[in-house]
Amino acid sequence: MAARRILAGGIAQESHSFNPVLTGRDSFTITGGADAVARARGTNSTLGGIIAAADAAGAEVTVPLLFRAQSGGPVEDAVFEEVKDAMLDAARSGDFDAIALPLHGGMLTPTLADPEGVLVQELRAIVGPKVPITAAFDLHAHVTAELLEACDLLAGYLTNPHADQGETGRRAGAAALAMLDGTLDPVLAWSHLPMLTLGNDRTDEEPLQGLHARARAAVEAGQVHDASIFNAQQFLDVAGLGQVVMAYGNRRSAAAEALVAELTASLWQARASLIGAYPSLESCLDRAVAGTDRPLILGDQGDRVAAGAPGDSTVILHALLARGPGLPAIVPITDAEAVVACRAAGLGATVTVTFGGRFSRMAPPVTMTGEVIAEGAGASLVYAGPAEAGQRATVGPYAVLRAGDLKVVLTAFPYSYIDPEYYRAMGVEPAEQRVVVTRSGYHFTLNYAAIGECITVDTPGMSSYRVAELPFTVARPFYPLDDLDITPQVRLRRRPA
Ligand SMILES: [Zn+2]
Repeated sequence: MAARRILAGGIAQESHSFNPVLTGRDSFTITGGADAVARARGTNSTLGGIIAAADAAGAEVTVPLLFRAQSGGPVEDAVFEEVKDAMLDAARSGDFDAIALPLHGGMLTPTLADPEGVLVQELRAIVGPKVPITAAFDLHAHVTAELLEACDLLAGYLTNPHADQGETGRRAGAAALAMLDGTLDPVLAWSHLPMLTLGNDRTDEEPLQGLHARARAAVEAGQVHDASIFNAQQFLDVAGLGQVVMAYGNRRSAAAEALVAELTASLWQARASLIGAYPSLESCLDRAVAGTDRPLILGDQGDRVAAGAPGDSTVILHALLARGPGLPAIVPITDAEAVVACRAAGLGATVTVTFGGRFSRMAPPVTMTGEVIAEGAGASLVYAGPAEAGQRATVGPYAVLRAGDLKVVLTAFPYSYIDPEYYRAMGVEPAEQRVVVTRSGYHFTLNYAAIGECITVDTPGMSSYRVAELPFTVARPFYPLDDLDITPQVRLRRRPA
């Protein structure tokens, strides 16, 4: 028997409705063909997991194109169309046995609120109802009824901070192969809740920890085949924004329906406790000035590139400058023009530049005189992990400006800095600082745990959880902005006979 062939690929990015900077083609890491498979094999990524499932079953994975970018503003329509066209062409021309897609699920384009749903629906229209289509999504996906109708099995990350990207891809890949084998006939039970999780939403803490434990127990006991709990990215101003709870039975639906009903009721009941509180910036800087055993790694809650914000907030930088230049610290700021100015002055030059605060308007731009201690373009790095260990990334044009012991890392494009290797790629060692700022609220806590104390600080901005300050229109009503009286419904979806 010829090896079974799985079509994989697509586009993965998490969008932020209120970030006015569209994400263009040059923000993406683009791979395809045998190179994409070789790069992903063995990594803790969704494609890596799909490949692992295929390798274990002697199946082949074909990747026409894979675009991956960090979070940011909505993705330009032409970029999505390019990837979609490549996937549809492959589906039309190749004799694939199944499709397994490593996506994010929380992307937007200026014209589409659910591009992943469009991709899956158009693939379904080409391959017909019998070819298994599965997908691996981030836990923060915006999951729609249209997507679920067209997809035979959707697997979501079960961890936040995310550590199970590879395992999620493996679930999606293995499910597609099991459907081909005839050992799996997934029946979906799912529900939607119009509410957001706002801070108390780590899966290794209550209340989500207990919900995931119940879902996992049902899977391990064989009552359901797979289960996911999606906590939507909070900055998507789209219809139907909220939580999606789902479970797949194998041929039978009763246990999946019961599990989804129970988890949905618990999630709704826990809604107030899913709203968190963060320590103040000043209390953290007080500690850093007084001296701590290890560097304080501060997640800038209000300007998290990891959540799609622009990465140019000067809130923390202003607070550090107010404390004087003697505290060894690193602050990243996105500002393409300042990078050009520093690089033009050259390594070792002393320059006065104004930067930041262009899109993040909570604090004004900073004017600073300092020495250019590093500059370049195209610095490459490999995530040390554990989150996304082995993942490659490239930093575009950058310059590092130093005033006293304060280093400002200026980049032309935004980065989340969820791995310390970002700073090392630009010649700055985070372990030698007293304060390191990242543009992430959760994921950095895994990858910096070995070098410092990780704290997400309560700062204002586009990705702050003070959602009443954000211009939501389409997504409302939702809890906690609106007072809702709801009765969650469990819906079913079966594969066509
Ligand atoms: Zn996520």
